[in-house]
Amino acid sequence: MNSPNKNKARILIVDDEKINIKILVDLLKEDYSLVLARNGEQALKFSLQPPPPDLILLDVIMPEMGGYEVIKQLKEHDLTKEIPVIFVTALNSVEDEEHGLKLGAVDYITKPFSPPIVKMRIHNHLRFVHQHKLLDKLAYLDALTEISNRRRFDEVFHKEFARATRNGTPLSIGMLDVDFFKQYNDHYGHAMGDRTLHSIAGALEQALKRPADMVARYGGEEFVIILPETDPDAAQNVAERTRIAVLALNIPHLYSKVSDSVSISVGIITFHPEPGVTSLISPESVLEQADRNLYMAKQQGRNRVVATVLGAQLI
Ligand code: GH3
Ligand code: MG
Ligand code: MG
Repeated sequence: MNSPNKNKARILIVDDEKINIKILVDLLKEDYSLVLARNGEQALKFSLQPPPPDLILLDVIMPEMGGYEVIKQLKEHDLTKEIPVIFVTALNSVEDEEHGLKLGAVDYITKPFSPPIVKMRIHNHLRFVHQHKLLDKLAYLDALTEISNRRRFDEVFHKEFARATRNGTPLSIGMLDVDFFKQYNDHYGHAMGDRTLHSIAGALEQALKRPADMVARYGGEEFVIILPETDPDAAQNVAERTRIAVLALNIPHLYSKVSDSVSISVGIITFHPEPGVTSLISPESVLEQADRNLYMAKQQGRNRVVATVLGAQLI
């Protein structure tokens, strides 16, 4: 019952009464992967453990920590605040229901309940969750290349910039641009150009090894990579690896002046926060520097990497 199942939605059932849990388990065990908690403390613990539940069925009256307190704490935590909560409770006054919904529950079911109706309500809420996640995913995806889009990049970059500043860890950012891509389009056609951008995106994704690394399409034939906690040497290596990965695709480009196959130029910058210096450097200036390095790589002949360090007097 507690075994995780990839295809089934996960529901956390929180109730201090065994019999109540049993009723819900019998009702839902066929369709969902269930996690059971007997008190508020366990409920919070299980909600924070990955993978988080997709939905929480929460009793109100429990000893020590009641359901109202549990939902308050869930809503305060970034990792749990979006998890939909349905109260399942014997408290059946209008005031109780209003209170539960005001605290952020998506639904309020009173006991005794009708099993088929509860099942349908849960089904509907999970469908909303699924659709919401799908929309979120689409909003962050570049349609042509199927990797992260500019919007996703902006979010992750600002988060990583803040994290690097806070922890004093290096953050490397690379700007990548396809060489002579205008000629490529002109000679091979726009549709072929689109397919090539798709292949390049795939190669770049493969070239990044750490889970926190990311590549996004910045626009047109430009890509950007974020390498958290990556020092200048490692950044240069990764940048070089992306360049080689694109060459290794071996996509013929007879009209490139620098290579027989499609190539990229890379400008990479390592932002290394130091106390007192950090505040003078903005995320925008990091990107500008990466862009300047890309420009240098183009100037110096293309199909190469130019790397520099920003904000680290001590390196
Ligand atoms: P450089 O080596 O200096 O980068 O030269 P370039 O020709 O790559 O640079 P330029 O900025 O002059 O041209 C970029 C070209 O990329 C223009 C456009 O035809 C092509 N491009 C941009 N976005 C797309 C796209 O979504 N699909 C396709 N097929 N081509 C695109
Ligand atoms: Mg280009
Ligand atoms: Mg360009």
